[in-house]
Amino acid sequence: MKSPSQTNAIDFDSAKLQRLGFGQQQTTLERPPSLAQLRQQLSLQLQTSLEPQRILGLFYREIQRLVPLDSLSYQHNSSDLRLEFGQRGHHSISYNLSHEGEHLGELVFRRNQRFTEPEQGNLESLLASLLYPMRNALLYRAATRSALRDPLTDTGNRIAMDQTLQREIELSRRHLQPLSLLMLDIDHFKQINDTHGHSAGDDVLKAVAASIKGQLRNVDMVFRYGGEEFLILLSNTAREAAAMVGERLRLAAQTEDFLADGRLVGLTVSIGCSTLLPGESVESLLRRADNALYVAKREGRNRLTMAG
Ligand code: GH3
Ligand code: MG
Ligand code: MG
Repeated sequence: MKSPSQTNAIDFDSAKLQRLGFGQQQTTLERPPSLAQLRQQLSLQLQTSLEPQRILGLFYREIQRLVPLDSLSYQHNSSDLRLEFGQRGHHSISYNLSHEGEHLGELVFRRNQRFTEPEQGNLESLLASLLYPMRNALLYRAATRSALRDPLTDTGNRIAMDQTLQREIELSRRHLQPLSLLMLDIDHFKQINDTHGHSAGDDVLKAVAASIKGQLRNVDMVFRYGGEEFLILLSNTAREAAAMVGERLRLAAQTEDFLADGRLVGLTVSIGCSTLLPGESVESLLRRADNALYVAKREGRNRLTMAG
């Protein structure tokens, strides 16, 4: 008979974790570990997270038992990731982290005192323990990000939109800051498809999304709401400021020429704008922007309408 307490979970109690070098903060009286000891501890510790911030934070803290630092900065351009720990110093050494031809980011160690040769050797040796954890963390980040993005327009998808809307409404309430929403729909988009073909239509959609993102400070707040409809969240933005952003987006679309199947096409957009009311639900905020958009369409398109 199977005992219910016999599972496949391995329980690391705190004594074991401590023996493995987890948890305890180092006291200044403690002797520095050997390079080999530190490498071994790091290789275990860095496996405990898939978050680049946490992995590098642990790494930054632990390597200082052997090489004191003033700061560590990390950059991985293709995943748009930049992290910084500590305060910058005068001297720096930088390393490109890569594994089997795969670029895993650039690390810069800084401090006010010059780095000695043996210290550089230690740093290089300790860096090896970052390879697998960082590669896994970057893969995980890419996977979770792609689950939240619309692949055609590289804007947030509906899942991301729902999560972000919920979070922004809570933040807005907690900090008593305004929150506005723009719902933008391309005018007569069906005609673009009919004239130039669906694939050219796709290119235009992509270009419109890029144009919207180009006009905004926070590109993470643009979502594809429907086929040719985008939702833009404006945090800490009241009604008047939101109207100005909306107007800027409308003018940008009107001014720009978009490439469809090798030919330049002009287009316009209609926008509905709503601003969160006290105690208002997500659904109501969205509905009011949608109603305003409907009014903009009905009144002739290429315009911005504010929700009542
Ligand atoms: P309106 O000014 O009233 O918004 O007119 P419209 O033609 O833009 O609106 P309608 O809702 O009649 O048509 C939207 C069109 O958008 C129809 C559909 O084929 C097209 N569409 C939706 N999603 C995509 C897409 O991913 N790619 C392409 N190429 N077209 C799409
Ligand atoms: Mg449309
Ligand atoms: Mg539409």
